[in-house]
Amino acid sequence: MNTDFIFTIVAQQGRARAGLFSTPHGSLQTPLFAPVGTQATVKSVTPLQLEELGAEMVLANTYHLYLRPGDSLVNRLGGLHEFMQWSHPILTDSGGFQVFSLAENRKIDDDGVTFKSHWDGTSHRFTPEKSIAIQENLGADIIMAFDECAPPDDRDYNERAMVRTHSWAERCLLSHRRNDQALFGIVQGGIFPDLREQSAGFIASLDFPGNAIGGLSVGETKLQMHAMLEIMDAVLPADKPRYLMGVGAPEDLVNGVLRGVDIFDCVLPTRLARHHAAITRTSRLNLLNAAHQDDPGPIDETCTCYTCQHFSRAYIRHLIIVKEMLAATLLTLHNLHTLLQLMRDLRQAIQKGTLESFAADFFATQERST
Ligand SMILES: [Zn+2]
Repeated sequence: MNTDFIFTIVAQQGRARAGLFSTPHGSLQTPLFAPVGTQATVKSVTPLQLEELGAEMVLANTYHLYLRPGDSLVNRLGGLHEFMQWSHPILTDSGGFQVFSLAENRKIDDDGVTFKSHWDGTSHRFTPEKSIAIQENLGADIIMAFDECAPPDDRDYNERAMVRTHSWAERCLLSHRRNDQALFGIVQGGIFPDLREQSAGFIASLDFPGNAIGGLSVGETKLQMHAMLEIMDAVLPADKPRYLMGVGAPEDLVNGVLRGVDIFDCVLPTRLARHHAAITRTSRLNLLNAAHQDDPGPIDETCTCYTCQHFSRAYIRHLIIVKEMLAATLLTLHNLHTLLQLMRDLRQAIQKGTLESFAADFFATQERST
């Protein structure tokens, strides 16, 4: 019996679940946050540093790696795990989100999308089959169905995109060959409860080993996002992992876990780090701010990360001012630690049955960003 891609729920409190998802490169402990390594690298940190942070899975982007260095080259060099020297689970997206973000430089039809590369203008075409073929070459443990993400409040567009997403999901299933990869389906439907319910029902019926929730955190309100998650929790199978794509702010992670989400990814912690911002459990702060110029204290007194254990706000601000690369590394280490530790704490709270008080304390201490 293949023991990969078995999802075991080890504890549950309300809708929140603590689980284990087995993959060929190790078991994932959920709820889980996956740092994003767009170009087969999590910007400014090494795989060894990611391991030390306790990251269990990283995400890489199909669109970017297809363009450069090319999925065939990655495949010839042993696949993504070998190429980027990350021996733990990897997830690749389908390339759809990036392609649809190209605005004027792409044309969608029922069969696929023709687009122009953002860096050299050359013309390319993605279909569901092509996305799967690229992801098979890249060789991640979890791969994603090719879907269409519509603006969240455009009803007509969401209806069309949902129908297309469903037909593409079936085509992805048919063309996927590698049994050492779990192909996840993606639910769409914007902010429309009936479409979300219909989409979750259809995607659930295809019996993917895991299901993703797409098209959220793209401009809708927090209340709308929560309402959609609650609808999908009721329809998506409880015995399969649920992945909320592109979500990573601390309050969104807690709200997602409370509504039955198991896996998250987001560029937020690494992108903010490159823009001089630190995420803490309670707020966000900009280290470039003059208030930190003489401050001997760490970013966060309560944080146990390498950065906070060794470096002052004044030093990090100095690195930013003189444009030293270490600034981005130290801030990335801190930001990733903050989110990974939050997920570990949420998992522990679910296992101990203390999630309600944990969440109440968390929301009571949220401050406005500085
Ligand atoms: Zn820290």
